[in-house]
Amino acid sequence: MRIVYFENVCKEYVLGTDRVQALKDINLQIEAGEFLAIAGPSGSGKSTLLNLIGCIDKPTAGKILINGQDTSGQTPDQLAELRARTIGFIFQTFNLFPVLSAEENVEYPLLQFKELNAQARRERTVKFLDIVGLTKFARHRPNQLSGGQRQRVAIARALATHPKIILADEPTANLDHQTGEGILQLMKQINRESGTTFVFSTHDAKVMALAERLIQIEDGQLVEAHAVL
Ligand code: ADP
Ligand code: ADP
Repeated sequence: MRIVYFENVCKEYVLGTDRVQALKDINLQIEAGEFLAIAGPSGSGKSTLLNLIGCIDKPTAGKILINGQDTSGQTPDQLAELRARTIGFIFQTFNLFPVLSAEENVEYPLLQFKELNAQARRERTVKFLDIVGLTKFARHRPNQLSGGQRQRVAIARALATHPKIILADEPTANLDHQTGEGILQLMKQINRESGTTFVFSTHDAKVMALAERLIQIEDGQLVEAHAVL
């Protein structure tokens, strides 16, 4: 099943009298279950591409289907619903709430789903903290955790909503190499076991080597690199 479909997608930013063509005529298809890296130098358009897949931003031209749904005619509320039900986000700076414990951070996005009662939220929180190996740290706040542990909390939080796609914008950028590789290995294991699609950006060659498919972006244009395996 095709989970992401881009047809001739362009994104232009307007800053005063300046126009930046951040993405130029992108055609891209991602199948459900892929583990895909987007590589490219700073400013090449990686974040813009992830923001469009995540329905955080809209294209200036072209067609985007996410999980079979055409996003172009959707209202902001419909896009927010699609995002909440389909996408999980992981960030380079973790973006955890500092005053909440690990388990409260994981539970937080579940509060928006009215069909989940307190017990269902609790079960998911316990399950996903276990999957990322943080059961013993459930009550710790982010400042009581290492960088790698914080990113594991963020992965559990992203998984807890049962997304179809996890988007990770430079998830290892603030981690030392060994920790970053551990995070990628964990993501890969979750990808294999759950079938969740992962799309992550990086400019670290060692991280790229762990991808199963690599696409490269240069100055807003896509260069399909190769299957790494
Ligand atoms: P990357 O993630 O690869 O570093 P980005 O997608 O952040 O690249 O940026 C691509 C281009 O778009 C850059 O030239 C950047 O300066 C520009 N850009 C990104 N976001 C904005 C914005 N909100 N407003 C104006 N220009 C932007
Ligand atoms: P249930 O039937 O209770 O909803 P499932 O085992 O079908 O539970 O899984 C529910 C969700 O948890 C699915 O989104 C699945 O992708 C995810 N999931 C299950 N096992 C794992 C795992 N080992 N790692 C990551 N996510 C998982």
